[in-house]
Amino acid sequence: MGAHARFSPSAAHRRLNCPPSLVLEEQFQDEESGYAAEGSAGHALAEHLIKKHLKVRSKRPVSDYYSDDLLEAVDEYVSYVINEIEEAKRTCKAPIFSVEQRVDASEYVDECFGTADMVIVTDKVAHIIDLKLGKGVAVFAEENPQLMIYGLGILSMAEILYDVEIVRMTIFQPRLNNSSTWDIAPDDLKNWGEEVLKPRGAMALMGAGDFKSGNWCRFCKARNQCRARAEQFLELAKLEFKAPALLSEEEIAEVLKVSDELSKWASDVYAYAQEQAIVHGKEWSGFKLVEGRSNRKYSSEEEVAEAAMAAGYKDIYKSSLVTITEMERLMGKKEFNKILGHLVYKPQGKITLVPESDKREAINNTTAAAEFQED
Ligand code: SF4
Repeated sequence: MGAHARFSPSAAHRRLNCPPSLVLEEQFQDEESGYAAEGSAGHALAEHLIKKHLKVRSKRPVSDYYSDDLLEAVDEYVSYVINEIEEAKRTCKAPIFSVEQRVDASEYVDECFGTADMVIVTDKVAHIIDLKLGKGVAVFAEENPQLMIYGLGILSMAEILYDVEIVRMTIFQPRLNNSSTWDIAPDDLKNWGEEVLKPRGAMALMGAGDFKSGNWCRFCKARNQCRARAEQFLELAKLEFKAPALLSEEEIAEVLKVSDELSKWASDVYAYAQEQAIVHGKEWSGFKLVEGRSNRKYSSEEEVAEAAMAAGYKDIYKSSLVTITEMERLMGKKEFNKILGHLVYKPQGKITLVPESDKREAINNTTAAAEFQED
């Protein structure tokens, strides 16, 4: 098995919806992103901490990416996994635990393999847990093709030992306060593998099928230049607005439906064009590079303090409390809750208009209007 899977489970959502994206993306270089490197550092630490709990030898990884925020997210995930491990020990005599488990689903699609963050197999349940450290888009376990592929791979290993009754999939996304679990029966999962994954996967490997844009385009390497994606958004301009002069409520709702994706697409194309201009000197007709606005900065804080004091100014320093995360780290979770728990609150989030498909619970229109007036 090579290191690189042509049909990577992490891109499965995109491949199943837009099969020819696989071959189209192969002409682009891999994108290096700081977020991905930070994510890998977080996963490595989680792996170490879980192995430590399982008493498996492991060396604590070192990385410049270990910020308080990342450590807190990893801690939350590790606590969740440890709970699941302990629960599995209570319900099964010989559970199997595997961290960073290689999973192979090439029985369904050639060159389809990946790594599941955590796998817990008991005599009844095969549980796949996926840590997502992204802060951008919430991802859910229900019908998630990446996890379903891991599920198929794990099932073929687990069924050698146990009569698995449930394949359980969990996505744990601590930085978005988002975690979801979804169960599927092994036969239903295998049917999906045969009826959906196999044919769509074969199409993807051949570059066959139709290009289809949607929210899966977000991480596609072709997203900035893809014609299908551009056509989808340019359709918006073709909305036929008839008289009278003002848009109707239905027409505004139509615009709202596409505006979120439309603005993301526009900013992707903009970022791509800007990067081409700055890094590769590309010139775009009608555009130029300029220097952005910037704020004044002290060239040396020591020298500034010295000069200000010498001139007789005393009140030049201010002190402020460390952040909640730093305080919690300083005291430890338990002490923090004991000493400061009653002094910490979570302000209400800003009220936002989102599509109906968003998983958050809707708030009542009258309450929203009243709160807006109070602000
Ligand atoms: S940008 Fe979207 S439509 Fe275009 S190839 Fe990629 S996934 Fe398909």
